[in-house]
Amino acid sequence: MVKYKAMEKQAADPKSCKEIQALIPGYLNGSLSLKEARRFTGHIKKCAGCRDEVEISYLLAEGLQRAEKGETIDLHADLEEMLGKTEDAIIHLTQFRTAVYMVELTAVFVLIACVLILYIYK
Ligand SMILES: [Zn+2]
Repeated sequence: MVKYKAMEKQAADPKSCKEIQALIPGYLNGSLSLKEARRFTGHIKKCAGCRDEVEISYLLAEGLQRAEKGETIDLHADLEEMLGKTEDAIIHLTQFRTAVYMVELTAVFVLIACVLILYIYK
């Protein structure tokens, strides 16, 4: 509960909004790092102001292209889907990194065990 309140406060902080809005172009072209993407989606979910900024940027980047092709655009649904996909990607990447970390950790333990065995039976 305390943590949640702290996060709400952070989302309303204009300084963090500025930082998040600086990440919008990177988000739309998919060039954010995992850490940035996590911060971005976390903030966007709670901050209506930044969400509006994303919608406008998205509309400018995607909507106009699609309108030229004569396609209709459901801005809200599209963005919702995009944010959902980003969150999925974050979860998968985080799981993958954890798996890699576990493998590395296991390798280190095996190495230590080998050294110990060599040392004991020398
Ligand atoms: Zn914000």
